[in-house]
Amino acid sequence: MLDFAGFQFDPRRPFIGGEQVEASTPRLIETRNPSDGETITELPCCGAEDVDRAVSAASVANGGAWGSATATERGRTLSRIGRLVLDCADDLARLEALDVGKPLSQARADAVALARYMEFYGGAADKLHGQTIPFQSGYLVSTIREPFGVTGHIIPWNYPMQIMGRSIGAALATGNACVLKPSEEACLTALAFTELATRAGLPAGALNVVPGLGNEAGAALARHPGVGHLSFTGSVEVGKSIQEAAAANVVPVTLELGGKSPQIVFADADLDAALPFLVNAGIQNAGQTCSASSRILVEAGILDEVVDRMARRYRALRAGPALRDLDLGPLVSDRQRAAVLAYLAQGSSLEEIARGSIARESPGGGYYVEPVLFAGEDARHVLAQEEVFGPVQLVIPFQDENQAVEIANGTPYGLVAGVWTCDGGRQMRLARQLRSGQVFINNYGAGGGVELPFGGTGLSGHGREKGFEALYGMTQLKTVAAYHG
Ligand code: NAD
Repeated sequence: MLDFAGFQFDPRRPFIGGEQVEASTPRLIETRNPSDGETITELPCCGAEDVDRAVSAASVANGGAWGSATATERGRTLSRIGRLVLDCADDLARLEALDVGKPLSQARADAVALARYMEFYGGAADKLHGQTIPFQSGYLVSTIREPFGVTGHIIPWNYPMQIMGRSIGAALATGNACVLKPSEEACLTALAFTELATRAGLPAGALNVVPGLGNEAGAALARHPGVGHLSFTGSVEVGKSIQEAAAANVVPVTLELGGKSPQIVFADADLDAALPFLVNAGIQNAGQTCSASSRILVEAGILDEVVDRMARRYRALRAGPALRDLDLGPLVSDRQRAAVLAYLAQGSSLEEIARGSIARESPGGGYYVEPVLFAGEDARHVLAQEEVFGPVQLVIPFQDENQAVEIANGTPYGLVAGVWTCDGGRQMRLARQLRSGQVFINNYGAGGGVELPFGGTGLSGHGREKGFEALYGMTQLKTVAAYHG
């Protein structure tokens, strides 16, 4: 048992059936602190056998204590978990900062969001109603929303607490029992959270955590015939394989994939209000955000002013160790840093406007990159089309509204878009014309918005998480037609 930031859990063991158990193989995965590259601990390398045990444990919970709990009882349990998470937010934040290199205040915001998901779905659990449907005389027709039973959740490393919270929050609230496969880069807060949830009274087996490699534990979970619904957040490439696995078992799947999200700035925009969002939405979490705004589309008449003001902000940005809580932390891994540096090398045909710096005291072994702002007219450039997943933004000029929409919609993705303009008609036109799961007008991201349905179109995926909408996705509808004469 290791004592991590106040939590008592063994990072080398999966959580199955309400306790930490031995994994079926002694193989371990080393996990490193991205701020200095030093080894923190090792994780279990769960495989098909462990996933099978976890699905069985979830199935037992579904047929027992968790499945028979009333909606109100489920809601109360989630609310208690939320309170405990909030009480432990500082400790969870330190653990996350250590594990994924996220600056402390950003990690704390994630812990608070995790608590908020538990509160929101705790409150919503007994407010999900069926309907009665007017039908022929002599009938009473109603619909009932039922859980799938066991749900599988495969999540990435960039917002481990938030993505876990939104995915399992909605599943648990609706009476499903979950098997969670966190990313091999980010398992510690998932294990700590499960320990907290158990302390808060979540019945054994309602939440099982199987850390391991994607092509082993993840693939085993995706193809397991005992899983009734799959929820995947991650890359497009892996998302496609998850959809194929779901098709083999004919189960529904929610895919939350990548993005190349634009913010469009018109000449009449309130630039003082827009500027912080333009930059922050690109560099938050060192750009490792699915909804990062990596393209800034600017009306030609104000291009110089916007570029100048963004450049000033960029030159002041500093990356450094997560616990120093600067503007950016390191990237999550050496592999991710190599991938981002390879993209930066392709920026040589663009104009480099400005770059931030790496704080002098940052350990040499950490995975730091300087944030970089580019400008260029080529909306087909690789940096205008592909998801970099690092602190890199590209400013692209446009001449009029039509061209802005054309550029904004000109990638295979469609996750989030922002529009900055004071023209009410234009706001409404763009809200309709932008091919995107979310459109923000005169803001970007609405502070995370636990209540707001979230998901993509095109290569950004399908299905919706967050808000009340996720509760529909985590249930299936049964129609009951009673003939009473
Ligand atoms: P990834 O696809 O490599 O991994 C995501 C998860 O899938 C991990 O748990 C991984 O172990 C697992 N996995 C890998 N191979 C697998 C396989 N063959 N079968 C089953 N599971 C497998 O993604 P990542 O590098 O962890 O995260 C970055 C990506 O996630 C980016 O593309 C980003 O845009 C996307 N993302 C999307 C959202 C969203 O809500 N739309 C949020 C965060 C991240």
